[in-house]
Amino acid sequence: MLSDAQLLRYNRQILLHDFDVAGQERLLQSRVLVVGLGGLGCPAALYLAAAGVGSLVLADGDVVEESNLQRQIAHTEEDIGRNKAVSAAAAIAAINPATALRTMTRALSADDMVECAASVDLVLDATDNYAARFALNRACIAAAVPLVSAAAVRSEGQLSVFDPMRGGPCYRCLYTEGKSDEMPSCSDSGVLAPLVGMFGSLQAMEALKILACFGEPLRGRVLVMDLRSMAVRQLTLAPQPDCPDCSQLRRK
Ligand SMILES: [Zn+2]
Repeated sequence: MLSDAQLLRYNRQILLHDFDVAGQERLLQSRVLVVGLGGLGCPAALYLAAAGVGSLVLADGDVVEESNLQRQIAHTEEDIGRNKAVSAAAAIAAINPATALRTMTRALSADDMVECAASVDLVLDATDNYAARFALNRACIAAAVPLVSAAAVRSEGQLSVFDPMRGGPCYRCLYTEGKSDEMPSCSDSGVLAPLVGMFGSLQAMEALKILACFGEPLRGRVLVMDLRSMAVRQLTLAPQPDCPDCSQLRRK
């Protein structure tokens, strides 16, 4: 049952007839892990909290630097030197004090990821390196929770939902571990601020859809956009039959 205050606060979402009170109640009962409170994780976490996701686990081992402020919108000048998860938690608490928050202030080990993923309903990958992405993919499969993944660099972004427990590929079906070179990074290649804002927001949108049972999440599809030209593509993704991380799910 939503309180009068909750009905008022979340009224604009509840007005969507296929979201409704039931969708809002599901959000309020949901727990989400956001790994990385940088360009993607900041807007994603802010929108999840504003929309009424009940509980967030925020994980980041880095501290805020001046060069982050161009795009990592949960952090301010006063947060320079502060841990990013702690800084983002303060920004979230200012928007929605009802959000239950847990912060992890170290780079998550593979064991940390499994433990954190097992404590939530959904995970957002907002990290910036392949090692963390592969480890997070395995943790989500082990915990049987969906992974909403985005990447953004220069003017290009991509977004997908990996949920092989319910069909479609996992992250590793798409990328060969150890073979790829380092991920192109914002620090080397540059990035335009609204791009990460947009893809972080899209991650929050996919999370809301899955948690509230609304619309059609991007399972088995990847959205690719180049904001330089506004070219948009959507590709269908198939699971790799011999994927070392998720093929066992299909043998059961
Ligand atoms: Zn796979």
